[in-house]
Amino acid sequence: MREFAPDVRLLAGGTDLMVRLRSGRFRPNAVVDVKRVSGWSSQIVETEGVLRIGAGVTMTDLVADTKVQRHFPALVEAASVVGSIQIRNRATLAGNICNASPAADTAPPLLVCGAIVNIASAWDERRLPLHEFFLAPGKTALAPSELVESLDLPIPAEPVGSSFQRITRRRGVDLATVNLSCTLNAAGEVRMAFGAAAPIPLLVNGTVASLEEMTAQARPISDIRGGQDYRQAMLLVMARRALEIARGRLSR
Ligand SMILES: Cc1cc2nc3c(=O)[nH]c(=O)nc-3n(C[C@H](O)[C@H](O)[C@H](O)COP(=O)(O)OP(=O)(O)OC[C@H]3O[C@@H](n4cnc5c(N)ncnc54)[C@H](O)[C@@H]3O)c2cc1C
Repeated sequence: MREFAPDVRLLAGGTDLMVRLRSGRFRPNAVVDVKRVSGWSSQIVETEGVLRIGAGVTMTDLVADTKVQRHFPALVEAASVVGSIQIRNRATLAGNICNASPAADTAPPLLVCGAIVNIASAWDERRLPLHEFFLAPGKTALAPSELVESLDLPIPAEPVGSSFQRITRRRGVDLATVNLSCTLNAAGEVRMAFGAAAPIPLLVNGTVASLEEMTAQARPISDIRGGQDYRQAMLLVMARRALEIARGRLSR
């Protein structure tokens, strides 16, 4: 990657990259398939209050993992609606965030749980909170020769309820018109993140009493998937639904 930087792309599942290569939108000098590099992890490991999800972990792996199911049900809900079975068998969690779509389904649940991105290059390593990783549609804080090695998800130290919601134009394979994830703790503190509601997935903090103010921070646009007013209105509806489910999970 260093040799070909800045005109190089890493290939993980290829479910985004191949589409862009075929359409001609990306014309890199090199595509690097890392799947057989030793040390490239497709493991989900629990250590010292953190779940570490290797960059090779697919949506299918994630949905089937009992540790993720126990600690991060909203992430399981999001991963289980990405594309189709075939897409989920290839699509990685890391690829979903590196693609930096404003509508990426796993971004909201990762943002509300405080995910940290572990970044590596040939000469350095660094860690970045996910809310600093997204810069613009399709643009991340990764330098051209850097890659995402894994994601760290801090396991909540206190009881937390979480959930995920999304609206699509049809059932089945479609990208979100809007999506949303929230966490709620016993003190009534709410963390909420929205997708397809701003140029990047957006994280906001508030309380159960401030849902309207929180969703008003979104800046949706009108496009083929939905109008600005519709998106803005549905965010509040989805926020109420998501909070209700999170409240039920908190009290379990
Ligand atoms: C039919 C179809 C339906 C889809 N439905 C959904 C959906 O419902 N919801 C949704 O969110 N997405 C959806 N997607 C998009 C896509 O499947 C996801 O974004 C997927 O998670 C991408 O992961 P990947 O492993 O395939 O990434 P790739 O296609 O391999 O890579 C995506 C981008 O990220 C870069 N990249 C990948 N991994 C790394 C890494 N570890 N370090 C640095 N850069 C990296 C690549 O260079 C590339 O630019 C859909 C795609 C298709 C084709």
